[in-house]
Amino acid sequence: MQNTTDQYQEIRDAVRALCAEFPDEYHRKVDEQRGYPEAFVDALTKAGWMAALIPPEYGGSGLSMAEASVIMEEINRGGGNSGACHGQMYVMNAIVRSGTTEQKEKYLPRIASGELRIQSMGVTEPTTGSDTTQLKTMAVKKDGRWVINGQKVWISRIQHSDMMILLARTTPLAEVKKRSEGLSCFLVDLKTAMGNGMTVRPILNMVNHETNELFFDNLEIPEENLLGPEGKGFKTLLDGLNAERTLIAAECIGDGYWFIDRARKYAGERRVFGRPIGQNQGVQFPIADAYIEVEAANLMRWKACELIDAHKPCGAEANMAKYLAAKASWEAANVCLQTHGGFGFACEYDIERKFRETRLYQVAPISTNMIFSYVAEHVLGLPRSF
Ligand SMILES: Cc1cc2nc3c(=O)[nH]c(=O)nc-3n(C[C@H](O)[C@H](O)[C@H](O)COP(=O)(O)OP(=O)(O)OC[C@H]3O[C@@H](n4cnc5c(N)ncnc54)[C@H](O)[C@@H]3O)c2cc1C
Repeated sequence: MQNTTDQYQEIRDAVRALCAEFPDEYHRKVDEQRGYPEAFVDALTKAGWMAALIPPEYGGSGLSMAEASVIMEEINRGGGNSGACHGQMYVMNAIVRSGTTEQKEKYLPRIASGELRIQSMGVTEPTTGSDTTQLKTMAVKKDGRWVINGQKVWISRIQHSDMMILLARTTPLAEVKKRSEGLSCFLVDLKTAMGNGMTVRPILNMVNHETNELFFDNLEIPEENLLGPEGKGFKTLLDGLNAERTLIAAECIGDGYWFIDRARKYAGERRVFGRPIGQNQGVQFPIADAYIEVEAANLMRWKACELIDAHKPCGAEANMAKYLAAKASWEAANVCLQTHGGFGFACEYDIERKFRETRLYQVAPISTNMIFSYVAEHVLGLPRSF
């Protein structure tokens, strides 16, 4: 399989060169130790790649979504896992889109330089899950501060982030006309919050993904840390989610090509019954099938990027790109594992690691059924199902 050549070749070459300094062994070791790829994320930050979407006036490179997505694709295509750092690229989007001038000036240049990591977004709660508007964490204004009480679950990269964007209810559900109203976004300084109203409990999970339960017990944050209009936090958040979904679609595309490349190479080299296993249709057809699926999903990824870059509505395309790419990368992962037989299970082949990593994207940040219901309701005009 040829390496992609397109109008983004310069970005691809530069990111590939950086990723090549962090070979499989590096990512494998981080995974084994359940560590954080600090040196890798540092190198990406220093090279400016994490600041791709920050406007130049705030120290970023102001790249397009298409260009930013190439960075993420290449990280995963090179054997890495963007999940360790993708938050740094898109969480700040909410500040770019909804922040006040003071907030932009205060945070964006420091995020762009890497001095400040804002990699966490606190939305999911244990008792309400995908039903976001029912979330129970409350923020109440008191003496010029916001006082927060409640609980979150699966909040990623808290221990490798300085700031988090938190979604909390500011008007009780019973007092709003629409359930998506009365929610607000807040900027939380994690270092100050830890031990001062916020408790963090790490969740050991299938992937080496640093994620946590958070408990808020009268956490106080400054009044000016409200992000976007009070009561409109759902919209503040949603505006940035299409970028998140599109970037994750690109990561899955990167994974998909990585799996297909490994499967193709192994199928050509491994000889059983006196011939390469890839000579058997039972081995080569599933690889071809997976490749076709990745290529098709990639078209939707580019369509979503194009719409975002043209500032056009892109909710359906961003969701569909994420759905198709997550499905294609998972199918490619499965085929790659099968092609390798028993060796696919050996950690030193890296397939089982990437297999676990790519599986996540059918569940987080939005599960497949939620995408189906979005398309059913908003694209096909079917009745709302929940
Ligand atoms: C490793 C990891 C990292 C994460 N990082 C973050 C993070 O940083 N920040 C954050 O806020 N969240 C994070 N999440 C949470 C993630 O977004 C949620 O797990 C996901 O949105 C699904 O919510 P849930 O787990 O509560 O599942 P549930 O909402 O309980 O759903 C369980 C299953 O039922 C299905 N389902 C539920 N209701 C319906 C319905 N009405 N119709 C059809 N199907 C339905 C769902 O699609 C899903 O398959 C992370 C999760 C994981 C595993």
